[in-house]
Amino acid sequence: MRYAVDLGGTHVRVATAENGCDFRHEHRSRRPAGMTPGDFVTLLSGLADAWGTGMPRSIGVSAAAVVGEGGLLLAAENLGWKDVPLGRLLKDAFACPVTVETDVVCGATFEATAGAAKGAGSALYLGIGTGIGHAFILNGRVWRGSRRGANAFGHLVVEPDGEACYCGHRGCLCTVASGRAQAGKPADARPLEMLALAVGNAVTLIEPECIILSGGALNQPWFDLVALADLVSSFSYPAARKPRFVRSKAAEPNLCGALILSLETS
Ligand SMILES: [Zn+2]
Repeated sequence: MRYAVDLGGTHVRVATAENGCDFRHEHRSRRPAGMTPGDFVTLLSGLADAWGTGMPRSIGVSAAAVVGEGGLLLAAENLGWKDVPLGRLLKDAFACPVTVETDVVCGATFEATAGAAKGAGSALYLGIGTGIGHAFILNGRVWRGSRRGANAFGHLVVEPDGEACYCGHRGCLCTVASGRAQAGKPADARPLEMLALAVGNAVTLIEPECIILSGGALNQPWFDLVALADLVSSFSYPAARKPRFVRSKAAEPNLCGALILSLETS
């Protein structure tokens, strides 16, 4: 059985499948505060025992992190981990092929392969959850950046004198418009305006055909897709094409993407 994992800022999701995204078993739990990489390995082996699947044939992991070669988590502030060799840890524990990728790369891979970006020449994928990440899709392929770091949309600076961000800068988008920044707050116009400013600049820069949004923060009171599309027009270069805004229809784009990527490499 193939395993797919979504290691997010607040939750851990695990699913199994033989092929495609037709999941046989599914687990979802809140990620315990202070969860270590060793705890994560223990969780997976406990699920394999409980589900009776035997050892995984392959594992694909979607992680809220900047992921280097070989599944090394370089920066994972939303997990509280740094420089964790997750790919090697999982290979040692389960003796199977392991793929670890940044969550937005997984989500964008799903959208490019089987979702809203299938057939589109270009698309910008935005994952708005605890933090905010992005991935640019060109002709069906996901651009990871020159050193796999092109995914930190939440750290676009929208207010140079704004609130201090954990990355060391001030006024990053994620200090205003993320799930973490808006948790438990009533509807407010400012986060949508700041998100529109960042997206408007992205439209001016790359003029994508469509913008796909996913993530738990889209269910918070401040978010409004139609209003966002209107606001973006007022921040982007007028001659740039207006992109199509789409909310991801997939229940679990990160899990599906992690599975697709693990199929490519195993
Ligand atoms: Zn930042």
